[in-house]
Amino acid sequence: MGPVTMTFTYGRKQISYDEFYNTELHYRIKAAKAKTGSKAKVISGASGTWQYNYDPEKIEEFGIYAILEGELGGIAPEIDGHAGRFFNYLINGDFDNMDPFRKRSDFKVNIKEFERNGKKIHARFVNFWARPDIDEIPNIVEPSMHGMVEVMRGCGRGCKFCDVTLRSLRYYPPEKVVQEIEVNMKKGGAKSAWIHSDDIFVYGMDPRTAKGMEPNREALEELFTAIMSTGVEHTNPTHGTLAGAIADEKLLPNLSKIIKASPDNLIGIQVGFETGSLRLIEKYADRKLAPYKPEEWHWVVKEGVKTMNENYWIPAFTLIMGLDNDETPEDSWDSIRLISELEQEQPDAMFTATALTFVPIGLLEKSDFFNIGNEMTAAQLGVLYKTWQHNLKYGIKKFMNRTGAKGPRRLFFNAIARSLGGIPLGAMERYARRKGKEHERVIEIIKAKYW
Ligand code: SF4
Repeated sequence: MGPVTMTFTYGRKQISYDEFYNTELHYRIKAAKAKTGSKAKVISGASGTWQYNYDPEKIEEFGIYAILEGELGGIAPEIDGHAGRFFNYLINGDFDNMDPFRKRSDFKVNIKEFERNGKKIHARFVNFWARPDIDEIPNIVEPSMHGMVEVMRGCGRGCKFCDVTLRSLRYYPPEKVVQEIEVNMKKGGAKSAWIHSDDIFVYGMDPRTAKGMEPNREALEELFTAIMSTGVEHTNPTHGTLAGAIADEKLLPNLSKIIKASPDNLIGIQVGFETGSLRLIEKYADRKLAPYKPEEWHWVVKEGVKTMNENYWIPAFTLIMGLDNDETPEDSWDSIRLISELEQEQPDAMFTATALTFVPIGLLEKSDFFNIGNEMTAAQLGVLYKTWQHNLKYGIKKFMNRTGAKGPRRLFFNAIARSLGGIPLGAMERYARRKGKEHERVIEIIKAKYW
């Protein structure tokens, strides 16, 4: 039910691989329990469990005893610590009727009541409140997927639509990052390190003193110098902000030098474009722009793309369709126009843009999902259309074959993208014809003015 999944399954009209696999796994567990008469309690945990709030019928269907929320996952092996207490409570049946107002700050139980299709559903949510310090989070001992290692948790920028911002901010010291990369290199043969960050340009920053979110250049240089000292051929952070990238003019040139960015070693990074609407950016993500002001957002986007590209970084932008169900057609056109202006003013600019649907998390968790299958306006279809057109014309055809770690997987992926990249555009044009004049008109305007 995440933003990417909801976009590509038309708001769960189709089943995603993750949902299919999760369902199949629970059915296997249920069958095994039925066969043996086991009374084992099934608990579902980790950061995706917020989804059960929106489809609590699955809790009943899968026979889940409790949903475990919080950051217990990473420290579960410490059986003599919080995890040990968790299993003791579970074995003793303490979670069955735990006082929801208990004073201890480890676990709390909340029995939630949901109403779906006229039926009341009750489900047990166990919250682990403590936040592990960095030295409580054990290092990986086996290789991680795609050589990914975490370098920070949390982000101080406070975008209302993001739950990362609710987590306390913690940074992994460079030595810990190096140790994990070495596990990936030695045991997994990794040649690149994919640096999991929320906003990498916040790394090492103390948001209490850095009021304008000024990056801590020294800490970032130290981190990436340590990463490169492992001998990896390539590294790139997962996420970052445009404002962070340009707030210190020496930052990107210095980092690019350290990580050996070049025309043959482009650095891909996922960046929140969110919207071209100044109204929405001010309302929902004003600190994403700090130290700049919401009215400077278009300048930040253009300057950010220019600076990143000059230093061989490529932003992979994500946009939010239907942000808090508050997006007007004019807001959507602002997004289309901003992408088009970037293309016109910087014809060689390298960036991709992917429109994702709004999901209610973070400070907006009480809002409703944006249902792309039923609620997409003609202008929102325009955003989707424009982003795909940009990706095909600029991203896939011009520079995608130069990003990421080298190797056959990259070649294979690019061949697929080139041959299939145009299909979504045709599908959207057919969709517009089915929906009627207003939708068709949006496609025509984009082709005539913003192509
Ligand atoms: S900058 Fe990114 S990670 Fe940080 S709060 Fe905003 S959306 Fe979340």
